[in-house]
Amino acid sequence: MIMKDGGSILSGGQNRAGNRSPLRVVRLMTFGLAVMLLAGCAKDTVKTGPDAFASEVYVEPVTNLPRDFLRGMDISSVLSEEESGVVYHDKTGKEASLFLILADAGIDMIRVRVWNDPYDGDGHGYGGGNCDTQRAARIGARAAECGMQTLVDYHYSDFWADPNKQMAPKAWEKLSAAEKADAAYTYTAESLSAIMNAGADVRIVQIGNEINNGMAGETTEGAVLSILKSAARAVRDTASAQGKEIRIAVHFTGVDDRGMIERKAKWLTEGGLDYDIFGVSYYPFWHGSLENLKTVLTQIRTDTGKETMILETSFPYTTQDGDDSGNSAGDTKELGNYYVSVQGQTQAVHDVFAAAAEAGAKGVFYWEGAWIPVPGSSKADRQKLWEACGSGWASSYAGVYDPEDAGRYYGGSSWDNQAFFDHSGNLLPSVDVFKGIRTGTASKADPMSGYCKDPHVQAPAQAESLLANPGFEDEDLSMWEVSFNGAKDPTDRQTKEADAKSGENAFHFWSAQAVDFTVEQTVKVTENGTYVATAALQGGDVGDDADIHLYVRVNGKEAGTDPVQLTGWVNWKEPVVEFDAAAGDDVTVGFLVKCKPGGWGTIDDVVLARK
Ligand code: CA
Repeated sequence: MIMKDGGSILSGGQNRAGNRSPLRVVRLMTFGLAVMLLAGCAKDTVKTGPDAFASEVYVEPVTNLPRDFLRGMDISSVLSEEESGVVYHDKTGKEASLFLILADAGIDMIRVRVWNDPYDGDGHGYGGGNCDTQRAARIGARAAECGMQTLVDYHYSDFWADPNKQMAPKAWEKLSAAEKADAAYTYTAESLSAIMNAGADVRIVQIGNEINNGMAGETTEGAVLSILKSAARAVRDTASAQGKEIRIAVHFTGVDDRGMIERKAKWLTEGGLDYDIFGVSYYPFWHGSLENLKTVLTQIRTDTGKETMILETSFPYTTQDGDDSGNSAGDTKELGNYYVSVQGQTQAVHDVFAAAAEAGAKGVFYWEGAWIPVPGSSKADRQKLWEACGSGWASSYAGVYDPEDAGRYYGGSSWDNQAFFDHSGNLLPSVDVFKGIRTGTASKADPMSGYCKDPHVQAPAQAESLLANPGFEDEDLSMWEVSFNGAKDPTDRQTKEADAKSGENAFHFWSAQAVDFTVEQTVKVTENGTYVATAALQGGDVGDDADIHLYVRVNGKEAGTDPVQLTGWVNWKEPVVEFDAAAGDDVTVGFLVKCKPGGWGTIDDVVLARK
């Protein structure tokens, strides 16, 4: 065996050669004739439906979108934005109310979160819009004035509730679970009545937000169920007292974990909860494929007989951070299957709507589509507004309630690159997606320009590899040899589509101790020639001194790539080693991973192939 150039290593190859062109052909076939014509001639306007309207973005109508399908948007931060001096501009460039702009864009329902008491003892708001009942009522009333309905999203907390935290409201801290259930009834009934009395056209009430791991400080299923039941009863009683039909939604995230979601649905059914909508969050860059989303939503609808909805989704249009407060997603040009661009945002949102409709779901809500930077020439300027008006995700005042997260990281908008407005408040053409999914658009935009990968094509990597179980899809890992230093094996096979490059499974590592292991597989090659070894890996929190690299050993001689820099979730790195081997050689392909405690990552699709 000869290592080319004394052990030639080609590291940092991000895309396998030849990826782009075959995908493009498949995409063209997917989208049909109009697209084929357009692809070679991007200056022509293509009309995608009989009622298509002129737009700078290309939107195909979603066929068979039900009449009552809801196009929703969460704008919980709007009052704080306005109070900070943010100004929104409509299509013509004129200053306009956000509510009017969204109503004009085809939004049917506004979603607003409600925290019990997002203020400290001196009346300073925690931030994130300082959304309490009174402010939700104002938002709902203004939505109604513009003909839009309201979804009220109760967190049953004084600040953000999600899978990582479900802190009880301050006033409920000393209550037992049973007392919290009573408090949930009283609070929901009073708050909902106030919001409706203010003029909001409330049609959906969400009892709890992303309650995967508990609610209002309770973590046992029994306690959570009793709070849910109490809250649901309050919604029913309030709705009937006001002579209105209001649907009750329960909300989870992590739809990429199909088994978990199905267990939650079963739990609600067996627990006898009275509700109408099983809602999920689906962020395309966090929660797996559209195929999986459709499968799960269809299954839940069949199993429970309830409606399903996507209560949160979003996609960035720019990699730029507008307020010097780091963004949650989209600091790279490609994100999953889409480019981080205006057409990419359009396409990503379109595809979520299409998947939802195909799965028989009843609505999609875009999360915080107008949370743009507040005015200011420096971060310090903006910080003053975040503190005074609650227009950042958290103010320093939230630290007393949420010391671990808000107390340390308080700041501005982590979502300013996912709005439908640029950083100066100008409406983006991507907002046309909401009307476009019904009618289509007439556009000169290249319909492919939103995609960096075809979302409908699965990578064929596994079939190509000379290694056995290269994508860890089989439970049997005996062909992979793992060696580690430390008290406990930091590795396992993980079933989680969102952390897999393809399929559902990947080789995963994490440890609270220093991580130090190798994972490798040896096969005998049967032909003389040049070979390529590569794999996909992602991860983070590995520290500056981490050594993580792909290596190849042929008859005892080893070559490896430079250390791979892991830069966070789904930022897949694909190191490559190229080498020569002869028929009968034992070829070992493996990874060495050495990193600091808390480092994590997944390795997938380990390919060994003849060049
Ligand atoms: Ca930001």
